[in-house]
Amino acid sequence: MSFAQAVSLTRIVPWSQSLLAEILETGDLAVDLTVGAGRDTLFLWQQVAPSGSVVAFDVQKAALVRTRLLLQSEGAPVFLHADKGPGGFAEPGVHLIHDSHAHWLQYDIGSPRAVIANLGYLPGGDRSVMTQPDSTLEALGGALTLLQEQGRLAVVGYPGHDGGHEEIEAVGSLLSGLGPEKWQGLHLRAVNCPQAPLLWVAEKKAA
Ligand code: SAH
Repeated sequence: MSFAQAVSLTRIVPWSQSLLAEILETGDLAVDLTVGAGRDTLFLWQQVAPSGSVVAFDVQKAALVRTRLLLQSEGAPVFLHADKGPGGFAEPGVHLIHDSHAHWLQYDIGSPRAVIANLGYLPGGDRSVMTQPDSTLEALGGALTLLQEQGRLAVVGYPGHDGGHEEIEAVGSLLSGLGPEKWQGLHLRAVNCPQAPLLWVAEKKAA
């Protein structure tokens, strides 16, 4: 059974992962802009391990602590960066950064092969700490700048979350405005469930 057949058709997170798995290889650099429960961080690490690195951001310390345990239980080397310290992001492993993704260009990370952002709030966590349109746009703009050629950005948005609609409008307008000479853009949604999560994937074309 193929990966796509093994999951429910309209579940969006497996689609986002599947579309990044197509381009990620061992040794690559990948970025997770919203660590949350750490599932995407773990997924990215599984694609780039053991010689690659994943750099992942969250404003909630609890999300990073939980994800560190998850990654360590999977045998990943994990580095917790509390501030803009010395960097060393090329060191193979998972680098967890306690900062807003709006600041991610201030870290000298390099050009990632893949970037993922799973927006909204952490289920079972503090719902007041949710992604916001302005910082999301700043972070995604950074991703579009830094992505390698033929690299992909995947964004999952949640119309059902409070304030989610405004954020989705902002993301949709950013990505639908990408020039087709430089970008391929894909948008996936469940056509008959307006509250279901949405996916955008943008791929930077080779020059
Ligand atoms: N909505 C998804 C999970 C999203 S988790 C689901 O339902 O599965 C989103 C994560 O983004 C949360 O852990 C939250 O702390 C984090 N976050 C919110 N604003 C952020 C910011 N500016 N920078 C980095 N992380 C942020």
